[in-house]
Amino acid sequence: MTIKLHNTLTSRLEEFIPNQPGKVDFYVCGPTVYDYIHLGNARAFIVFDVLRRFFTYSGYEVKYVMNLTDVDDKIIQRAQKDGTPASVVGEKFSKALFEDFAGLGVQRADVHPTATESMDQIIVLIQDLIAKGFAYVVDSDVFFEVDKFPEYGKLSGKKLDQLQVGARIEVDSRKKNPLDFSLWKSQKPGEPAWDSPWGPGRPGWHIECSAMSMQHLGQSFDIHAGGVDLVFPHHENEIAQSECVTGKPFAKYWLHNGFLNIDGDKMSKSLGNFRTVREVLTKYPGVVLRMFFLQKHYRSPIDLTEAGLHAAVSASERLRTFYAKLSERLEGSAASGESVSDLEAYKVFASAKQELVSAMSDDMNTPAATARLFDIVREANKFLAEEELSETDLQVLHAVKADVEGFDSFFGVIGEAIPDDNSALVGALVETLIDVREALRNKKEWALADQIRDRLQESGIVLEDAASGTGWRKK
Ligand SMILES: [Zn+2]
Repeated sequence: MTIKLHNTLTSRLEEFIPNQPGKVDFYVCGPTVYDYIHLGNARAFIVFDVLRRFFTYSGYEVKYVMNLTDVDDKIIQRAQKDGTPASVVGEKFSKALFEDFAGLGVQRADVHPTATESMDQIIVLIQDLIAKGFAYVVDSDVFFEVDKFPEYGKLSGKKLDQLQVGARIEVDSRKKNPLDFSLWKSQKPGEPAWDSPWGPGRPGWHIECSAMSMQHLGQSFDIHAGGVDLVFPHHENEIAQSECVTGKPFAKYWLHNGFLNIDGDKMSKSLGNFRTVREVLTKYPGVVLRMFFLQKHYRSPIDLTEAGLHAAVSASERLRTFYAKLSERLEGSAASGESVSDLEAYKVFASAKQELVSAMSDDMNTPAATARLFDIVREANKFLAEEELSETDLQVLHAVKADVEGFDSFFGVIGEAIPDDNSALVGALVETLIDVREALRNKKEWALADQIRDRLQESGIVLEDAASGTGWRKK
């Protein structure tokens, strides 16, 4: 079946035709590791995790790359605030990210490159842009010259002159055009820096993603994805830099997921409705959050409400109960291995399966696809309500179970038994105990503080005190 995707670059629904038949090269912009990820981040990581896994289900070989931005203004600000090196901030929140991924059931990418590891490639790319006349050096800074790329604005559908009028960009008189953006920023006092031909400094955010995506997926690759807030300027700038340097089309399909609102408002720290993933995971397991996000099309805005989460809880419970009952009923009987497609009793399941897959293939229409999944549950429950099941019925149920497991290989809403995956909760609890221990130590309550450390040690958690604060690891 062909898969159709809405391409932001053409504003159209397009048939997905990969550069290499049967293969998908897929890049997703990862987070800046300066804080715990929030629910808006989680939406992007979940929906593209589902798409990645749906490609695999559909027989594609997927190479999935997600960067971690570990060099950025936000990290430097956080490090200065916390009085720790930027590298410590980056390491702490990268580790937290993977704990949150585990909690959300988001599979790790094949590669998670970081900006610090990719510094050589980034510098080469900037040198190349300068040599080809697309970038210029002022003092020890390097800027990309947007006027040199006539197609600038093609992703966001904006024209250069419109952008200039609307641009809320800090005025830097050294720029030829206010829209020119930084490729390399010279070091300011107290900032981390890397050596470069232009002096010590650090790369701009956009060039990091161009370098990391092309390093791992080649100059032209299939899919580049992220939240809709990244369309401009981040993705627009990535296209400009990459296509100027290679002279080739960069990513073919640009996918963007919609915003997340909380009770009708934009989520923001100033509104006090900011929700980190680990905070929400203490109340709702990852399978519930996945179910919540899948019940809305990925490109539409989604409103997070308690009512919506409760609906996801009951939907998720219904599925898990069904799957447990089905597995129990089939215990002791084996699938015959013969095709059930001709059986009359399987026909209703076969057509629901086909509709589910075609909904997924239609720009990942997860609301329609999950509705078909519940149709299957309803039909199968009719069988499970019977006291006696014929051999044919059992064969149909075996086929249904295999189908449902196939669907869950991309939805990830049934999942493993939840207690196996409490890493985010464990992390949050340990962090809380570390804070309490710190408060006790400040009050010179040494015995109690030591008791916390020892009891954690007995449970297999080792605390490590350092100048920058206390970290922890499992034994
Ligand atoms: Zn990016």
